[in-house]
Amino acid sequence: YDAKGAARGLRVYGADLDTADPRRLTLVAELRAALATGGIEVHVQPQARVTTGEVVGVEALVRWDHPELGRVSPEEFVPIAERTGLIGPLTTHVLDRSLAACAAWRAGGHDLAVAVNLSARSLYDADLVDEVARLLARHDVPAGRLTLEVTEGSVMADPARAIALLHQLRDLGVRLSVDDFGTGYSSLSYLKRLPVHEVKIDRSFVMGLQSGAEDVAIVRAVTDLGRHLDLEVVAEGVEDAATWELLREVGCDLVQGWYLGRPMPAAELLPWLRSRPAARGALRAV
Ligand code: C2E
Ligand code: MG
Ligand code: MG
Ligand code: MG
Repeated sequence: YDAKGAARGLRVYGADLDTADPRRLTLVAELRAALATGGIEVHVQPQARVTTGEVVGVEALVRWDHPELGRVSPEEFVPIAERTGLIGPLTTHVLDRSLAACAAWRAGGHDLAVAVNLSARSLYDADLVDEVARLLARHDVPAGRLTLEVTEGSVMADPARAIALLHQLRDLGVRLSVDDFGTGYSSLSYLKRLPVHEVKIDRSFVMGLQSGAEDVAIVRAVTDLGRHLDLEVVAEGVEDAATWELLREVGCDLVQGWYLGRPMPAAELLPWLRSRPAARGALRAV
């Protein structure tokens, strides 16, 4: 959270705020304060190679533990941040904490990548490229260790502008990922126009792998598509060994989900890595 971000946060998007909802009013009023006082934290969830179980990176997931309301889901407060002009400061904060953690892991001998989610509004923020470059330099993290995740939906809001911005980010050396792939309304051919390195299969398809042939067909098709387009394919929402095994057969590259590890405070990642039985990843991959 910084002064520049705060200035950007002064835009007013009052029209679509539901002023009648008291919970929403509380969140709107307190999000800014939580950002300024350290109430918003970043947790990380490990990602592993499907074949070996080796942990190669994490996804950063923002967390807000409200003193009275308890944990508030990012699905609830990220849209609020977007509508109240706080998304700039929020994105900056998450990037800053994620890159600080990445730098600490590197110092500890673990060269892990970190993926950060970009909301639609951040994707169209003209300051984003400079901000990302500034934060990479501040934490001395190579650009290739940062992945930025965008959804089809946010790209489709203004494809020409989004693609131009993605090219700028790509030129910095940052990796780009299409999150929640398959849930949007873009045509498959759009994927080839996006300058991205990775596609993330939405967890709704991954979680249905055990119960229906349809989801197996979808995951297989997306994985094949990704492979033919030279993209890394990540499956999120992997909750059990059987799903992992299926993803290995299908030819996915990376897995992320509760079966490997739940999101955890960034400071717990290295202890968690050390506590993993050496054979566990290998066993899981068989
Ligand atoms: P996402 O980017 O698709 O993140 C994956 C979500 O799946 C996370 O939910 C994660 O906790 C959850 N998940 C991971 N593995 C499993 C599993 O095995 N089973 C199940 N049931 N769930 C699993 P979370 O943390 O609640 O985040 C929800 C969404 O909020 C994210 O979806 C993302 O769209 C957004 N979000 C989270 N952090 C940020 C952030 O820093 N910035 C922005 N703009 N959006 C964020
Ligand atoms: Mg994501
Ligand atoms: Mg996702
Ligand atoms: Mg999602």
